[in-house]
Amino acid sequence: MLRDKFPILGEKVYNRQLVYLDNAATTQKPVQVLDAIGYAYTHFNANIHRGVHYLSRIATEEHEKSRLEVANFINAKSAKEIIFTKGTTDSINMLAFAFGEGYINEGDEIIVSQMEHHSNIVPWQMLCERKKAHLKVIPLTDDYTLDIKAFEQLITEKTKLVSVAHVGNVLGVENPVEQIITIAHRYAIPVLVDAAQSIARLKTDVQSLDCDFLAFSGHKVYGPTGIGVLYGKEKWLEALPPVEGGGEMIEHVSFGKTTFNTLPYKYEAGTPDFIGSFALAEALRFVRQTDIETISSHEQNLTRLMLEQLQDIKGVKVYANKATVPCGVVSFNVYSNGKLIHPFDVGVLLDHQGVAVRTGHHCAQPLMEVLGVPGTVRASVALYNDEGDIDIFVSALKKAVEMLV
Ligand code: PMP
Repeated sequence: MLRDKFPILGEKVYNRQLVYLDNAATTQKPVQVLDAIGYAYTHFNANIHRGVHYLSRIATEEHEKSRLEVANFINAKSAKEIIFTKGTTDSINMLAFAFGEGYINEGDEIIVSQMEHHSNIVPWQMLCERKKAHLKVIPLTDDYTLDIKAFEQLITEKTKLVSVAHVGNVLGVENPVEQIITIAHRYAIPVLVDAAQSIARLKTDVQSLDCDFLAFSGHKVYGPTGIGVLYGKEKWLEALPPVEGGGEMIEHVSFGKTTFNTLPYKYEAGTPDFIGSFALAEALRFVRQTDIETISSHEQNLTRLMLEQLQDIKGVKVYANKATVPCGVVSFNVYSNGKLIHPFDVGVLLDHQGVAVRTGHHCAQPLMEVLGVPGTVRASVALYNDEGDIDIFVSALKKAVEMLV
């Protein structure tokens, strides 16, 4: 059984079977990923690229094979377009710095959306402060989707970059990134896709999307923490300056002048996480073997079931687009006589029944402002969840609601 491949799902919390519905925050790891970490440390732990000795050569080969696995997974044209980072946040910060140095001047504009995670807002805000540029924001419609007409109106000759999530981490809305990219490219504006939530849920094909950059984290796609990816079209990565200086990213160093390494090494200063890249590649193989379309439709079914059942519970308000089933993520709040019950209280009562959900602003405070709430309760599924999990969650929520309302 698929669940048996995830040892942590056998854990008991407060003497109850764990029901893990916090997958938008991080996913659990299958045995083959856990084993890969042990295998790498046991069989080829040695610093890569610089060594002539056997172990170092193996470690280097594995790191580069992992890069190729990532490139294939997202259908990049070349492994040179894959930069290993610490995660989505690191990838976006890296791009904000590189792009900012190379292309942003006073008065320029960057566009994000109202539903972005802080990591796709704050790095751009910091860049705008440094360069006296402006951050513009695509608003949401009443139905929690991005207002594409408004987006087009935000574009001016000063717009230099658009950065949007493929799937929102609070609402689970799948954004029309293809359409956004087509519109932006009409004005020769590059687009970054934040794929943190979509990477494990939707097929990612950077060539057919035609995005200029894409960022994701290993830990949200059944891989380890501490490793992620920044994809960039080769022409962009060639043109942008390096971000961090140090070992590996150089071609030659002298006190007079330093020249930089070729792609992708120019962006990977210091010892990279070659154990993490090996385990990430294993996670991506796991997703490929399981098949992303199968994962997608399984998660959709569970999400639909969750939505249907939540709508029947008195006092529960769900924040979801009515026309589509969200991508694996359902956000809601509980109200008593029109008064919001703090999501934290709901989360604690669920936790005590063995159900792990996330509560709070989900690193999306501007979106919370739009929704007019301090936070939500968020339940999010992964490929190992099943209808039994949803049943336990729903009956635990009913009990919590009875106590709170
Ligand atoms: N963007 C989105 C849409 C996310 O959901 C998250 C994680 N919640 C991030 C960015 C940041 O990812 P990380 O913390 O792994 O860098």
